[in-house]
Amino acid sequence: MNTSKRQPLCQLPVSSLKGVGPSLAARLAVINIHTVQDLLFHLPLRYQDRTRLTPIGATRLGADVMLEGEVLSCEVSFGRRRSMLCRIKDGTGIITLRFFHFSAAQKNALQPGVKLRCYGEVRHGKTGFELYHPEYQFRSNDINSAIAEHLTPIYPATEGLQQVRLRSILQQALDLLQDRPEVNAHSTPIAQVDGDDLHDWIPAILRQQLRFVSLRKALLFLHRPPPDTAIELLEEGRHPAQQRLAFEELLSHRLCLRRLRLQAEQLQAPKLTARQKLPQAFLASLPFALTKAQLKVLQEITADLSTGKPMLRLLQGDVGSGKTVVAAMAALQAVENGFQAAIMAPTEILAEQHYLNFLQWLQPLGLSVGWLSGKLKGKKREEQMQILRDGSAHVVVGTHALFQEGVQFARLGLIIIDEQHRFGVHQRLALREKGASSQNIPHQLVMTATPIPRTLAMSAYADLDCSVIDELPPGRTPVNTVIVANTRRDEVIDRIHNACRKGSQVYWVCTLIEESEALQCQAAEVTAASLQQKLPDLQIALLHGRMKAADKTNIMAAFKRGEFQLLVATTVIEVGVDVPNASLMVIENPERLGLAQLHQLRGRVGRGSVASHCLLLYQNPLSEIGKQRLGIMRDSNDGFYIAERDLEIRGPGQVLGTQQTGLMSFRVADLIRDASLLEQVKFAAEVIQKDYPGHVGPLIQRWLGDRENYANV
Ligand code: ADP
Ligand code: MG
Repeated sequence: MNTSKRQPLCQLPVSSLKGVGPSLAARLAVINIHTVQDLLFHLPLRYQDRTRLTPIGATRLGADVMLEGEVLSCEVSFGRRRSMLCRIKDGTGIITLRFFHFSAAQKNALQPGVKLRCYGEVRHGKTGFELYHPEYQFRSNDINSAIAEHLTPIYPATEGLQQVRLRSILQQALDLLQDRPEVNAHSTPIAQVDGDDLHDWIPAILRQQLRFVSLRKALLFLHRPPPDTAIELLEEGRHPAQQRLAFEELLSHRLCLRRLRLQAEQLQAPKLTARQKLPQAFLASLPFALTKAQLKVLQEITADLSTGKPMLRLLQGDVGSGKTVVAAMAALQAVENGFQAAIMAPTEILAEQHYLNFLQWLQPLGLSVGWLSGKLKGKKREEQMQILRDGSAHVVVGTHALFQEGVQFARLGLIIIDEQHRFGVHQRLALREKGASSQNIPHQLVMTATPIPRTLAMSAYADLDCSVIDELPPGRTPVNTVIVANTRRDEVIDRIHNACRKGSQVYWVCTLIEESEALQCQAAEVTAASLQQKLPDLQIALLHGRMKAADKTNIMAAFKRGEFQLLVATTVIEVGVDVPNASLMVIENPERLGLAQLHQLRGRVGRGSVASHCLLLYQNPLSEIGKQRLGIMRDSNDGFYIAERDLEIRGPGQVLGTQQTGLMSFRVADLIRDASLLEQVKFAAEVIQKDYPGHVGPLIQRWLGDRENYANV
């Protein structure tokens, strides 16, 4: 332990803590915890209050409580589900503990008169208030073991890593932290502090100005909140200590993106002049003319590409606004200048759809289109890799597989990333390195249909310029959205029948609150089976996230060919799937989704010329906010408007939907919840860049991990 005292926490390996052997260290490594500093930044997900005993008579429904009482009786009840009921009393009341899983030994130990302390959630059961499966321990008469001194942290769960063990090693880490003197980086010359202890890289002067606590205070607090802390505030991530960390994380991201931007500006990119042959031929082959908005963004892109400086542009456009055609035009500009273009999509389904589009568009122009995805293996993969390497593929479409090791391009000039919100900043950066030589990097166009309110966009994409397609192609009839209670399910099913009889196709989207993907898929299976029973003459297909990529692609293709009339799917179809003949969509339990995601889903219909409908089949009772939100969906088809309104009315604690916006993955911060920090983040980033440039590296390192190369692209 002596050496550990001297070694900085950011270098001190977790294995130096008591009880951390090689196997535990390996498990921690899986969740990126290597050093004591990493461990300190592994923050609780939620908390339990075991700092006080609640009298049984004072329990409230839904509360998590710690109770102490004496066993009155313990018996097995054979109801619908066998359970063991143990009644306990204290001076104020009686309550039942209910166990569905139990052993004979357990039952024998719960003799009348035995004293228990238990912890659990108060539910409404057959016998009145009950605790289901509480944790409990026996209390002997004489020893009055202490109740907890602070709120009990619950850490993100990981396979084979129990809370108790995590808590015990964190305890040691916190003791180490507490033992060390507070270090303020700004007061010490950089050379001395660099790589030293756990530093607060936000200068005290800024901290005071912005009223943030120190890093050490924030960390100590979050791992051991005192008993009087408002749990709700913590669980919403709005406690000042959390905000302090969220701020630092957002700041680090911004610094990283700004640094990349500055570095990119020092670099060269191929000068892709606006020659017109291929783009003109392509336009002439399309059955429609580009919209004004498409032409405008195309001009911006063309101008970027021809400067010889790397383009870093975000293209936002609502679902169906025609971003793919714009991407194709940009790709053709690269090809005409003798460079390759790569188009990357987040899912196999979407990538394949782009691939088919590009084949259809570009082959007639005499161009060759490559294809690379994770499922492509063996000889076929080799072939594709070869044509990328030797340059005979002009354009290549694919998934993440495009930027994996070993993939080489002959002359990559332009990278197009579709549906950006699915890619984290890490992937964006890794991709940027592809095709980069020391002085030369490819241009980059990032396309997203997630309408991002301006303030958020500025932050999430601080390294990008922004173009917006703010108009839909003509002749679209807006999707007519109707809100229907689940009690009218049969009418909805009739309506599906009618639509299919008229030759349309229908989506049925299942959503589930369960986090588990397995349960979601199961629910979709059950729904598909019950719909099939009610609609025996329809061809019904099922699509969910647990299916093999190849199966998903096949089903999607068959649906597109019209072989199925009804597609029952989980939200996997959210992104970019294009089946113009589908004109009706039913979304089950829409109240569970973020509006941005609902809008994306709804964008799957309304792609053809016939009027389309979207039925939001909600479950009663619907909260006031829930009603308002679905009302917004009914009243508007404008993704940007919807996003702004959603942000406005989403009250605290309404975290649903934030994950759907998933602009970037953060450890502590949440772009929507913490939107109010963004102005300060911007300000602080400027100050640090200017006055404390030495802090930039360590901050990026701390929050964006050990991929240092991100910072030196
Ligand atoms: P998104 O922006 O959602 O990716 P897509 O690029 O998939 O939209 O375009 C949606 C549909 O609109 C496609 O079928 C596409 O061919 C068509 N489309 C694109 N631009 C136009 C246009 N200017 N006029 C008519 N249809 C268009
Ligand atoms: Mg698209």
